[in-house]
Amino acid sequence: MKRITVLFMALLFVGGLCSAALAADTLAEAKKKGVLVAGVKDSTPGFGYIDEKTREIVGYDVDFCKAIAKKMGVKLELRPVTSATRMPQLIAGNIDIIAATMTITAERAQQIDFSHTYFFTGQKFITNKGAVKKLADLDGKKIGTAKGSTSEQNAKKALPNATILSFDDYPQAFLALQQGKVVAVTTDESILANILAKAPDKEKYEIPADIRISDEPYGLGMRKGDKALVDFVNATILEMEKSGEAKKIFDDWFGPKGKSGIVMERTFKITAGK
Ligand code: GLU
Repeated sequence: MKRITVLFMALLFVGGLCSAALAADTLAEAKKKGVLVAGVKDSTPGFGYIDEKTREIVGYDVDFCKAIAKKMGVKLELRPVTSATRMPQLIAGNIDIIAATMTITAERAQQIDFSHTYFFTGQKFITNKGAVKKLADLDGKKIGTAKGSTSEQNAKKALPNATILSFDDYPQAFLALQQGKVVAVTTDESILANILAKAPDKEKYEIPADIRISDEPYGLGMRKGDKALVDFVNATILEMEKSGEAKKIFDDWFGPKGKSGIVMERTFKITAGK
């Protein structure tokens, strides 16, 4: 029995070493396997969602992954993640990179590494039209958001007396608003605007312009200490900024003729150190 335990521990140790070695150089590993596995959202319109015609996952985040895989000379495999599952999936080695509307925070950066900022937005609310004039109108109310998001944490801080109901994704939170189960949905403006644009009853709702509770810079997430990959990704997205490819991806989705159907202003540039 004791020997079996020792053997088991030894196996665990070797297994641990192997996965640590894997984690240490995902770039080399991806090149060897010929595939980069990216964790993306599949129900976040504009960023990662299933195209009704092709049934493929498409969006701004997906296009960044495509550009990175192309530069690497490997195929891209997409795996759906949610706000709550993305970090555990990365740390467990099931995906190589997160491209999923993910905000760079100091708390998250203790567990994973981030690229430079490749998208910038801020947190807002969708409410029933005319119902909410100021942030305080929402305190003490039920508000929907997604599990494992900064939106959840920011809302709890900004509205200490509100009841925050966390769903797996934002379309589910929006459904709760349509059903009258919550009075507002909160997350990044970029996500809310895309969800509202797709809603058949959109005229009933609004995103109050003056109620904004945080800045949300998005970064691509990689395993902690996975330096070669982080450097490669940063060099690639800086190059994409310089060549205009990054702006083109933005315009493809959110420009006047963008595929998302909403128009956003590009208020950021991809720069080193951010
Ligand atoms: N950007 C925020 C976050 O990283 C909200 C959007 C999301 O849940 O992905 O948590």
